[in-house]
Amino acid sequence: NDDLLQIEKLNVEYITDDAIVYALNDFSLNVKRGEKIGLVGETGAGKTTLALSILRLLPKKIGKITSGSIIYEGDELLDKPESYMLGLRGRKISMIFQDPMTSLNPVKSVGDQVLEVLNLHFPNLSKDEKNQKVDEIFRLVGIPAERKIEYPHQFSGGMKQRIVIAMALISEPELLLADEPTTALDVTIQAQILELMKELKEKFNSAVILITHDLGVVAEFCDAVAVVYGGRVVEIGKVEDIFGEGNNHPYTKGLINCIPDLTSTATRLSPIAGRMGDPRIKVQGCCFAERCPHASEKCKTTPPPMVYENDHGILCHLFSKEGI
Ligand code: SF4
Repeated sequence: NDDLLQIEKLNVEYITDDAIVYALNDFSLNVKRGEKIGLVGETGAGKTTLALSILRLLPKKIGKITSGSIIYEGDELLDKPESYMLGLRGRKISMIFQDPMTSLNPVKSVGDQVLEVLNLHFPNLSKDEKNQKVDEIFRLVGIPAERKIEYPHQFSGGMKQRIVIAMALISEPELLLADEPTTALDVTIQAQILELMKELKEKFNSAVILITHDLGVVAEFCDAVAVVYGGRVVEIGKVEDIFGEGNNHPYTKGLINCIPDLTSTATRLSPIAGRMGDPRIKVQGCCFAERCPHASEKCKTTPPPMVYENDHGILCHLFSKEGI
């Protein structure tokens, strides 16, 4: 069976003293073994909430999954006890955050921190085997093993992210959740880190969910793309479907128009007018209606269907049989 992760109609809310924030709304996504899928969208679209929901790391007390399903290797994760999730996190599913210092302890050597992951998930390996594995992963991420006795502050931002990648991959996870892993880095280092993730992905055959606001990064790295807006997947397809000549969701079109085209002489990009809607208001119709140049009365009142052509889905009335 090729299916690794199936998320079905997931609804997540943040409940604070004075409001409910609807962070994910009927969010559905399938990930196959070894697949690299990009989750693209603006800040606040719900991408990080999705990753935290999968790992059951939503902020305690305020973050709540209200309905839906997260099936991992055929098992419903929402029914599993915390002890099961402890065995999954960092072992079968690893996460890389945008800021490497979220994952690194400033007062421990980087080698010890990688070793800790091994101690936790592979307690039966001998000391020699563990040390060998640590040296090997350092070599794979391009850091001389001699440097494992050093502390995080002795490394540059790009090197720190390499160490975090080493920690995430030493357990050879089946699924890697990478949340804006290159955003904090400069462009050249970004390219190096993406290249490294590509190589390691090939080596370990992990599936990757790459969370980013950058469609260019997705085109470079991913097999498939899910475009996220207002806590929903508004378009999903293979990279060639999204960037090809066929139809796109009006929001995706806007995102594609924002990618700088180095071959064109045009100096202005066309950002999408307006802002994302208030997530405290439950949307009746289409979540993009307030910003969409094609919006009709129907769009404001009736939720659009996901319209598929082969595996390429677009959540929009424009492409439905009944039309707009
Ligand atoms: Fe625009 Fe309507 Fe399509 Fe929403 S359903 S994206 S408002 S045309």
